[in-house]
Amino acid sequence: MDIYERILGGLFGVACGDALGGTLEFMSEDEIQRKHGYLKDIIGGGCWDLEPGEVTDDTMMTIAVAEGILDNPENPIEDIGNHFIGWYDSSPKDIGNIIRIALSEYKRSDDWTKTAYYAHQTTGGKSAGNGSLMRCLPVALYYSDVKKMLEITASQSLLTHYDRKATDACQFYNLLVYDYLNGKPKVPAIREHIDNYPEYKKVFLMLKNELEPSGYVFDTLICALWCFVNTSSFEEAVCEAANLGGDADTVAAITGGLAGVYYGYDAIPDRWKEKILVKDQLVSIAKRIIVKYRSQG
Ligand SMILES: [Mg+2]
Repeated sequence: MDIYERILGGLFGVACGDALGGTLEFMSEDEIQRKHGYLKDIIGGGCWDLEPGEVTDDTMMTIAVAEGILDNPENPIEDIGNHFIGWYDSSPKDIGNIIRIALSEYKRSDDWTKTAYYAHQTTGGKSAGNGSLMRCLPVALYYSDVKKMLEITASQSLLTHYDRKATDACQFYNLLVYDYLNGKPKVPAIREHIDNYPEYKKVFLMLKNELEPSGYVFDTLICALWCFVNTSSFEEAVCEAANLGGDADTVAAITGGLAGVYYGYDAIPDRWKEKILVKDQLVSIAKRIIVKYRSQG
């Protein structure tokens, strides 16, 4: 499969998971069952009163990370931060607690070295949310040098998330994205990297009813990995993730990013891709990323 199809698949994967899961955010599995049965279409609504195909913070911050990298690939962190602030200033509907605190602190202090620790302290040390994981995918799509990729993955997380668990989750996730971008098989890639993140090993032993789709980054990544491993198509993986409810848009966005790179853009249902309101922006980002690969030959 062409690498461009995987890059586009990853970006649309995040957006489709976000738009599908947005309808189900904060619902329990029972509530979803009663109201929607098993949701397989992007219909909008939900607690954010979304338009069908409207995306939330997960996709918009993923776009911000991508734009920051494309502005200044050598040293993108300040630029990524500027794009976060541009998005924050647009008064988004859906903004996570840790990110809201961190970005408002940046507006006050104008100093990125203070923001994540401030949010960590303000939340009583509970800064291991999934908000830096949900946006980190473009780093693995762009950087071919693994060391640089891991360094930027960590520093984009540390703009808002002080906790090491958030950094670890982003790096583990992006190692997988990187491997799938390069055509590695599904489970062997996870098995290869999981030794460095041993707390995640339980994902292979878990039953579906043991998953917790919470905003805690560890729970979120366990859910995403489980849905990806225990299904065999993009649509199945993302539907399983969204229909867990809870932090449904983020769990489904993270699952969609991984599954989109692995299965590729063509494997994402057309009825989903067509609906995404920011689709032109996603295509533009993928085209600008692929320029880098083509110029490297
Ligand atoms: Mg969201």
